[in-house]
This record gives sequence, C-alpha cells and structure tokens, in this order.
Amino acid sequence: MSRRSHPLHRDAQGRLDVKSLTWTQFQAWWDAHLEPGHGRALKVYKALWQDGITAFDQVRGVAAPVLRELDALAWIAMLEPALVLRSEDGTTKFLWRLADGYTIESVLIPDGDRKRTLCVSSQVGCAMACTFCLTGDLGLKRHLKASEIANQALQVGRLLPEGERLTNLVFMGMGEPLHNLDHLTDALELCLHDEGLHFGHRKVTVSTVGLVPRMAELAARLPVNLAVSLNATTQDQRAAIMPITARHSLHELVEACRAFPLPPGKRITFEYVMFAGFNDTPDDAARLADLLRGIPAKVNLIPYNANPDRALRPPSDAVVRGFKADLHARGVSCTVRVTRGQDVSAACGQLGKAWDQAADRGWLDAARRAAGCAVASGAAAS
Ligand code: SF4
Repeated sequence: MSRRSHPLHRDAQGRLDVKSLTWTQFQAWWDAHLEPGHGRALKVYKALWQDGITAFDQVRGVAAPVLRELDALAWIAMLEPALVLRSEDGTTKFLWRLADGYTIESVLIPDGDRKRTLCVSSQVGCAMACTFCLTGDLGLKRHLKASEIANQALQVGRLLPEGERLTNLVFMGMGEPLHNLDHLTDALELCLHDEGLHFGHRKVTVSTVGLVPRMAELAARLPVNLAVSLNATTQDQRAAIMPITARHSLHELVEACRAFPLPPGKRITFEYVMFAGFNDTPDDAARLADLLRGIPAKVNLIPYNANPDRALRPPSDAVVRGFKADLHARGVSCTVRVTRGQDVSAACGQLGKAWDQAADRGWLDAARRAAGCAVASGAAAS
C-alpha cells in the first residue's frame, strides 16, 4: 500500500470503499480489521468483482457474523446508471451518476461476433482543454476513484447477453488517465487481477495526451498497451489544439515514446485526429512518418467528428485515403478508425455533450437492476 497517495474513500458512517482496494491492499486491510483468513478474504473479493454482489450478505461460504462485521466496516460502491443510449450500429453509451451528483460516461463498442470493447472514463471532466474535445470544455471536476473506474467495466460486463463478454478495455473516455495515475493504476490492477475482472494485459490500452514523466511511471507499474493522442506534426500545430504541448513539447513526447519499454512484438498506437486544412496535407504525412521513425508504432487515423460549436471540420474521404497511402508508402502501419455511435454522440471527442435523446429503457432497467437500484416505471430517469 506504500504507493497510495490518495485518501481511502469513506461513506458518511466512516465505512471504507472496499472496491477501491487492490487484492493486495484488501488482504492487508482484512488482516488488520477482521479475523485474518486468506480464504474468507478471497471469497469476498471474488464475490465483489466476479459475481458483482451489491450487499455483503450475498457472499457464499463466509459465516454471517463475519459478513455483518464486514458490513459495519465497509461498503460496496456501485455506479448508478442514469441513462443508456443505443446507436443504430450497436454502440451503447452509458451515463453514470456518481455519489456526489457528478456524471461520467462509458461507451461499449461491439465489433463482429466476439470483440466487445469498453471505452472507460478516468476523471469527471478533464483539465487538458484540447480544443477539439467536448470533455475539455467541462474543465476538471475531480479524479475518479479506483472503484468508480473499474466499476464501469464490471457493470457493463454484467449487462452483456449470455455468451458475450467484455474483451477489451480502452482508457480513452472522459479525462486524461495519467493525470489520475494512482487511482488509475489501482483500477488497472482490479481489472487485470485473476481474482478481479481478469482482463489480459494485451487487451487493456491506456491513452495519454503526453504527460511525459507519468508515461515512464505507468510502464514501471503495469505492462499495458499505450496509446498516444498525437494529432499534429509540428510544435506550433500541436500547441494550437493541445495546450499540454506548452508543458511537454512534441519533441519531448516523441522521445518519451522512443524510450517507452515495450515487450517484443508490441507497438505504441498513435491516435491522429484529422482536421480539414489543418493537419491533413502530404507534408503532414511526411513529417509524421519522420517523427515516428524508429518507434514500434501503428497510426490510427480518426477523421474528426464534427461538433456544431466548433469551426473544425473533418477532411474528405479522398484526403483521408491519400494520407493513409502516403504513410503506407513511407513504411508506417496505419488504419482509419471507423466512426461508431455518432448518432448517440458516443464518438471520439463527443463525450460530455448534453443527453437530449430518449434512453434505451431495456438496457437502462437491466443496468439499474445490476447496480442494485430500484427500476422506475414510466419515463426514463434523467
Ligand atoms: S481529448 Fe482527452 S485529454 Fe484532451 S480534453 Fe478531451 S478528454 Fe481531455
């Protein structure tokens, strides 16, 4: 527990949020507060993360007096689903209401028969103020706790139909994950642990705008995939849309990527949002290839998802195709990301927009049941 620099969360009765504890932290806490017993602690931990219990009396195989003692000391954090929107393409956006009234969003992206990716939020709002992103308009309200981050994956995973499961997690929702590094890495441990949510390291990707010192710290803590939101090929160009560039220059960021410890066969994903007439020229493609030379990299081209309150526009399909061809010709591995969930504002850069559409009642009710909430009748909760 030595790494923890954030306070453990307690409710109004002073009880601990046990779902913000990693397995190691939970074991230590159990041994300090309850009759030591690895087996009982493990049963409770597995019930929390694999069965999704909403009350301690739902744990099987642990004596009722121990569970009552536990209930006096700890509480089970759940996310309250406020709205669920389903896109025509199956992409599903969840709005969660937090205990203090703030809301966050997660996006479920189905791909084919098996792949189910969840885009997870790490903060309420964001301090990075990227000019193309609606979440940036909110400013940073607060960091999410580990339980609030990992619960997004737990609760969405439990809503999937029989035979489906979440396969991938991408930390690209609201917030800059590395700005909330301690809670993020605790949440990652909850997601990766065999007795927790049990995701494979290769299936988990953390994105950053380039908090350079924290990139190395993340790598030292956990072996997950790294994505870098690059979006520009010169210092001035990047500084115009991503204020973080004034603190950590484009050069510094690229060198940090070059030094990032990658296991054999792994590559860093560079996200490149394309804006018409801004960063989509053949010269940009040439500079991008130069910047990435020597880095195991793949580029994800993302045509900008236009927002009416922004002057920025996406390039034409022909420009995107030409840019991709230029990168390929220079030996850069590159794909174009198909925009998903645009009809429910679930696409990249659109999180935080007002929810003015009708909720999917079936998914909302299922989400509320899974979270142990009452299911309201009539109009959707808002
Ligand atoms: S793009 Fe990411 S880092 Fe930038 S403002 Fe939006 S949420 Fe924050």
